[in-house]
Amino acid sequence: MTRARAGSGRVTLVGGGPGAEDLLTLRAVRALESADVVLYDRLAPHATLGTLAPRARLVDVGKRPGHHALPQSEIEALMVGLALEGRHVVRLKGGDPYVLGRGGEEVLACRRAGIPVEVVPGVTSAVAVPSAAGIPLTHRGVSHLFTVISGHAPLDEETLGHLAGLGGTIVILMGVNTLPSLTAGLVRHGLPADLPLAIVERGFQPGQRTTVTDLGGAVAAAARARAVSPAVIVIGEVVGLAHDGDPDARAVVDRAAELGAAGA
Ligand code: SAH
Repeated sequence: MTRARAGSGRVTLVGGGPGAEDLLTLRAVRALESADVVLYDRLAPHATLGTLAPRARLVDVGKRPGHHALPQSEIEALMVGLALEGRHVVRLKGGDPYVLGRGGEEVLACRRAGIPVEVVPGVTSAVAVPSAAGIPLTHRGVSHLFTVISGHAPLDEETLGHLAGLGGTIVILMGVNTLPSLTAGLVRHGLPADLPLAIVERGFQPGQRTTVTDLGGAVAAAARARAVSPAVIVIGEVVGLAHDGDPDARAVVDRAAELGAAGA
């Protein structure tokens, strides 16, 4: 870590994309190159940080199996404290900082402490992970809108009703655990049980896997596949287009059709 000068500290909040190093933007790479400290999340690309941020101290503030994540307030205190010491702090987050990522809170923490802060947008998993499975979120004549929603907590009836009434594609982040209440709720509010649904786990990571099913069969399919977080769930007719130009996704769709025919 280079010697810091108090007063020159700053924070760059960097969207690291869905986990593949080559989905970092050039701006993200440049911020990392000049970082004194990198505070990184588990879902951000971090395997090669030693090379990308050669001068920096690397601090893992994310959750790993068997370890707890630092609470949000402690991450913010650490980030602000290091910047007040004069460091260039890169806060490296998964996807885009402003998509269900608490980036807004971190910017406010910097502003409250009078620290200059810049936000570098990232490739959000909400769009990129479906695309890794060959699923376009919009497609002319099939869907002309998509809604991104957090499945962190179960949705209330009013939100479920709005969501079911919107039409278009529904994308859920952090939704593996709430899948039962979500799918039952959407069917209760009028979406057809045979509406296609895909669970895309570990996008752009070793072991990326897509499970194609439908609203009515999703809970059983997720249990059968032992689907786990991190995963992006896509609901809508666009899931049926997954074979477009993607041989792996085509195989997934064919397999799902075979399973369906076999009554599994
Ligand atoms: N700000 C992030 C989202 C943070 S919420 C973004 O824009 O992507 C964390 C959730 O994102 C995870 O629970 C999962 O639903 C999704 N996610 C992020 N990276 C993922 C990946 N590589 N594969 C599958 N899901 C991912």
